[in-house]
Amino acid sequence: MCPAKIRPGVEPSPEATEKALQGPRKFVDIRPNTTAMVRFLPPPTQQLFVQSLNHYRLKDQDGRGIALACLRAHGTDETSRDCWICELVEYLTDLNVSAYNQIAKDLKAGPKNYGMVTMGEKQPDETWQYQKVQLLGINGKGGTAINEVLKRQKLVGQVLFTDIEKGQSVLVTRTGSGFNQTYTAEKSGVVESLDVIRPTWEDEYIPDILAALELKIYTRDMQRAYVKLAFGDRLDWDAIDAAVSTGGK
Ligand SMILES: [Zn+2]
Repeated sequence: MCPAKIRPGVEPSPEATEKALQGPRKFVDIRPNTTAMVRFLPPPTQQLFVQSLNHYRLKDQDGRGIALACLRAHGTDETSRDCWICELVEYLTDLNVSAYNQIAKDLKAGPKNYGMVTMGEKQPDETWQYQKVQLLGINGKGGTAINEVLKRQKLVGQVLFTDIEKGQSVLVTRTGSGFNQTYTAEKSGVVESLDVIRPTWEDEYIPDILAALELKIYTRDMQRAYVKLAFGDRLDWDAIDAAVSTGGK
């Protein structure tokens, strides 16, 4: 009988594979049902979070998901500051036809908040290693939970967790999903200098968070074209064009 051969290969880790597939990303979020060690950098402005307002659920020519910036929030003189998609949503909502109600819901602008962070990752030897500076994307509940910690620190006159020298990480826990999703946040209690935990943070600093989001701020005409790509014959375009003009306002 042949001796059992030792064959090459190890059991793959989906987590390690996912990380390798993603590479060094600019964005990070807190995965459901996890607690993350989040060190906030001192923000470029007084706001810890910068908010984007996008219309999601759209598709590009190749059928990939795309989000277009809401012009009411992000429009410029070049694009118009009136948002064609918002006007379409209002028009469809007013019609109150069941076939359109879901589309109106899908097209409604949604906010997301971004804060500049370095995320701690627990190493096998139980130490924490802080990663490249990234933008943490979080919903309003999460942002509020984190801001509550900041508020309490300010209230009692503590050094804020964003302080370069005497700041600390915030433990952010995300539980549940969908509408039942909740976030809690608390100080880690371990005061550490940013220069020690992430010595390259100044080189990685993101001075303009909104610019780094690279929002797709398109004209009203282009907004209409993208909605047509995604929803095509599910909508009555003659009626829409009569009601919602793409002309500049
Ligand atoms: Zn809009």
